[in-house]
Amino acid sequence: MSLSDFIAGLPKAELHVHHVGSASPRIVQELAQRHPAAGVPTEAEALRRFFEFRDFAHFIEVYLSVVDLVRTPEDVRMLTYEVAREMAQGQALRYAELTCTPYTSVLRGIPIQAYTEAIEDARVSAERDFGLVLRWIYDIPGESGIAAADATLDYALNHRPEALVGFGLGGPEIGVPRPQFQSHFEAARASGLHSVPHAGETTDAGTVWDAVRLLGAERIGHGCSAADDPELLDHLADQGIVLEVCPTSNLATGAVDTIEEHPLRTFVEAGVTVTINSDDPPMFATSLNHDYEVAAGLLDLDEAGVAGLARTAVRASFAPADVKTRILAEIDDYCADQAGASS
Ligand SMILES: [Zn+2]
Repeated sequence: MSLSDFIAGLPKAELHVHHVGSASPRIVQELAQRHPAAGVPTEAEALRRFFEFRDFAHFIEVYLSVVDLVRTPEDVRMLTYEVAREMAQGQALRYAELTCTPYTSVLRGIPIQAYTEAIEDARVSAERDFGLVLRWIYDIPGESGIAAADATLDYALNHRPEALVGFGLGGPEIGVPRPQFQSHFEAARASGLHSVPHAGETTDAGTVWDAVRLLGAERIGHGCSAADDPELLDHLADQGIVLEVCPTSNLATGAVDTIEEHPLRTFVEAGVTVTINSDDPPMFATSLNHDYEVAAGLLDLDEAGVAGLARTAVRASFAPADVKTRILAEIDDYCADQAGASS
């Protein structure tokens, strides 16, 4: 069995993957047919071309046009349920924390109560139908400033979906100072949510320090620039702060110039806990399976090594203890079966 086949069948958990950013061409086609006036291609071939990754600016264009196609609670429900189907059936995912940005949906006219019901309905159906356990992270779209942060905190505190586990911060880092969101993260954490901001993707290690010191980050989205700061690496390792590494995304957005320059190995050698993730997989022409292959290449991992990455993601997740135990046992069983088959 090839390493890619082993990875494809390996039971996995994903911690850094965006809700709308996971919409595949198949799902977007369904949304585009529901809302033909939006101007997104409704034919499969045209959609495939539209989705082809060209550069970061085009990715933003694709991302925003998909955001704009999610107009009704039923769109939210369908998107969530179909994303879950593809995660479970295509990537052998057993657990995922989906980063949702409710602010952009509410802005487009979906009341927060209806939004919450739609994602929760999809979650319960997906667990029943695909055996995939979903949890939510609500993230502040940083570019929309304090108004978005206030609204997102309100949704998290006063309209909380049952499966909400984390509070995040996404969008561009340049020109969006992190300290302005300190009180939002304090309130979210006081209510029992985990702090999982993006940081150090397109800015220097100072942003990662801000995420750790001001926002109380337990995990960091990306954290690429932490590799330039040995003191920060030591701190992350000592405090058990986990990096959600997204190798293909980092290449696509230009956070690294070549995949060979990706700091994944630096993190591991510094003793920092890393997890492997796909971020916005169809829009970066990747998948979690592919990102595991990339990580295996960067770290020279064999089957036992990639199974180790899968176990780390389960342990670094905010899944209920019984779910963690079950998936870890599934990983053990899978490895034992594969070892048995090849001996
Ligand atoms: Zn992200």
